[in-house]
Amino acid sequence: MPHSSTIALITGANKGIGLETARQLAASGITVLLGCRDESRARSALDGLRAHGRDAHVVTLDVTSAASITAAAARIGEEFGRLDILINNAGVMLHGRDGPLSTTGDDALRETFETNFFGLAAVTRAMLPLLRRSQAGRIVNVSSILGSVAEHADPNSTIHSAKFLGYDASKAAVNMLTNHLAHELRDTPIKVNAAHPGWVKTDMGGEGADLDLETGARTSVRLATLPESGPSGGYYHLESHLRW
Ligand code: NAP
Repeated sequence: MPHSSTIALITGANKGIGLETARQLAASGITVLLGCRDESRARSALDGLRAHGRDAHVVTLDVTSAASITAAAARIGEEFGRLDILINNAGVMLHGRDGPLSTTGDDALRETFETNFFGLAAVTRAMLPLLRRSQAGRIVNVSSILGSVAEHADPNSTIHSAKFLGYDASKAAVNMLTNHLAHELRDTPIKVNAAHPGWVKTDMGGEGADLDLETGARTSVRLATLPESGPSGGYYHLESHLRW
């Protein structure tokens, strides 16, 4: 039986920007599937959403595990029949192990890419058949302004000195994937865009960050709910275009 409401999968939805994105989407009547590598970590998030009457479900999903991705796609297909929104939000930054090339090991580079790029690519490929069944599929790739080569090359940019090679290069790769996938899907109703949430107070962003969670989730929510006339293949923070 096809599901009537819009169905959104958010990866890394047990905390931080992912959970807040799920909250905001669910508050607008969207069915949210909380992608989470450890189901027990999503339990209180799920209970909180359901206590507010939201339609929320946990989907076990470790973006670095091919078996986990295959199982998640099969389950969503069986239970919901399609996917309308995919938010690739799961990400890591290896604080203390990531930095300039000379002091960042291959292990740190590979570990970061495994989640931020290869995981995102594999999840997206696995979910595409379900998104193609939607009348208005939307893919949001949670990138970062730190993935912008133009910002890194500009000595006047506020992020000019934020050189974390593994993280920054992985997000630049996410930006390239966004561009290529938007091209591949140009004749379909599916839109794909990259989001910079801002510097947000989370476990990753830290307490000194500028933005609260509510604002930090807004870019993902906007891109997930774009109208038919909306853009595809762009890179945004809130309403603004970022330089690649
Ligand atoms: P966070 O609080 O550290 O949350 C990261 C989420 O990703 C957690 O739910 C984590 O799950 C999940 N995750 C990590 N590896 C995973 C894997 N292999 N499989 C499934 N889930 C995995 O970070 P956040 O600040 O909310 O970041 C969310 C996204 O925004 C990331 O892509 C990040 O790069 C991006 N971003 C954040 C900022 C910022 O200032 N905070 C700025 C720019 C971009 P566990 O709890 O199981 O670890």
